[in-house]
Amino acid sequence: MSGSALLFSLAALALLGVVFWALLQKRIQKTSQGSHVNLDFLINEIKIYIKNTYPNIVIDYQKIEKIKSKNQLLAEDILIVEDIVMQFAVQDIDITPKYYVSKDQLWSTYEEYAIPQKNKTPKDFLKRKELAIRQYGSACGRCGQKLTFSNAMTYFHKPLEEGGTYHFENIAVLCSDCNKVLTSSEDKSKIISMLNIYDYLINKINH
Ligand SMILES: [Zn+2]
Repeated sequence: MSGSALLFSLAALALLGVVFWALLQKRIQKTSQGSHVNLDFLINEIKIYIKNTYPNIVIDYQKIEKIKSKNQLLAEDILIVEDIVMQFAVQDIDITPKYYVSKDQLWSTYEEYAIPQKNKTPKDFLKRKELAIRQYGSACGRCGQKLTFSNAMTYFHKPLEEGGTYHFENIAVLCSDCNKVLTSSEDKSKIISMLNIYDYLINKINH
């Protein structure tokens, strides 16, 4: 190979390298822009979901935006979901009902059965649960999620083991997530992955 041919080959190779590098850069830029667009889309979807499903929950989305800009690398979507669920779990919400069952709705054995007897559920418990759910407008007393009779959980402000009773003043109605949040003695960071809201939001990332 002559000297000029070698020079030409080297120049061509260098040019090819430059073109390839430029293409690669463009691709990287495109991917990172794309992931931010995806994150904005994800956050927006979560916002709508939380607002519609858990009307009592207030999420600080400014904090979420900070997570987005601070972590340019992997797993920022998971960090966002974790933070939102953490905010859901630590939120301090008054769980007293909007109104109480009126006296004329009570029945003759109401007082008698309100006092727990040897860890036995009172005979009229289902009736109590039904009215308690009505007190809460068929929604979780904490997050506001809509509930049915079967997925509503009863929560005792003063636990039965500590002398609490089955009076309506002592019964709150919660969804299973809020029940976990309020009854677990574990650190909140340890229970968030056990919540339904966590599963639901993590699934949004994977789709
Ligand atoms: Zn709830």
